[in-house]
Amino acid sequence: MAGSVCDICKKVPPRIHIEGVGEFCLDCYNKWALEKYDGEDTYQYAKNMSVIEPGGAYHTFEIEHMIMGPLVTWEAREIGGGYKFREISYIDENGAAVASRFFKKIARGVCTKSLDISDYPTSNTVNRGDKSYSLKEKGVVHIEEDEDDYSRLAFFVDGMKFSEEEFAKLFGAVPGFDLHYQIHDASDDLPGEHDYPVYERITKDGLLKEFHTLVSEYCSGGHISSDNAFNLSYELEQIKRRIRVLVEAGDRDVAVEIAGEIINTLKDIKCEDGIFPYGDMAAICRIVDPYRTNDELWGPLFWDEE
Ligand SMILES: [Zn+2]
Repeated sequence: MAGSVCDICKKVPPRIHIEGVGEFCLDCYNKWALEKYDGEDTYQYAKNMSVIEPGGAYHTFEIEHMIMGPLVTWEAREIGGGYKFREISYIDENGAAVASRFFKKIARGVCTKSLDISDYPTSNTVNRGDKSYSLKEKGVVHIEEDEDDYSRLAFFVDGMKFSEEEFAKLFGAVPGFDLHYQIHDASDDLPGEHDYPVYERITKDGLLKEFHTLVSEYCSGGHISSDNAFNLSYELEQIKRRIRVLVEAGDRDVAVEIAGEIINTLKDIKCEDGIFPYGDMAAICRIVDPYRTNDELWGPLFWDEE
């Protein structure tokens, strides 16, 4: 039956469907994508790894990567457990080197605990067996849709799954305190045991300096290659996130000034395939003002090549 096995190896069920190209298993898709993007196949790494905690607990992970244009996304899923880790790399990085970086991140993630476990179950903590669980002073919570019930959320802490109600009870030990939070992409760096989050003041000068540094890193002479355009676009995510913080703080005027300068700079960059940077400019417009059109804010963003 068509579609039941990968078009290339004809062995395993396909996982990736590309309109007009075919259906592939992950391995065959990655090989196809590497060829398409002239990437070198440096992705020889162990697809399984285990982390042994200092206390002796054993966690085994299944690791896979997927080539997405010039970016590569990595995922590690614990077999028989709830840990999940993500990483992003660039296609021109050495695959084996990225894998070993990712292994270290997984080991750090597993060995840095966010839960306090005590032998004394109490009514205001989460109790399982003869243990009681609450959150430490700082840590990481991975949020997902609950695969057993998509109308609910599941919270993963130290690889353990907590329901919505249980998650609230993880704070049972700290009534009267405040929770300061920050949302991160799951591929961001993870804090180590001795890392503490610090506040960063977002300023127009700081953000623009960072932006222009990125531009000078990826562009030369007003030109950008399509691979670098993809990379720059990826790095712009962090800048967009902070522009959004300014808007949410009520500093829309400053956000508009920053966005204006960023857009005016991007406008003048010529990309070989002509696609960049319209998507990013439009996205930044939407952040600072979802109601006004691009034209009203900064003049036409799209122009005809003469
Ligand atoms: Zn295949």
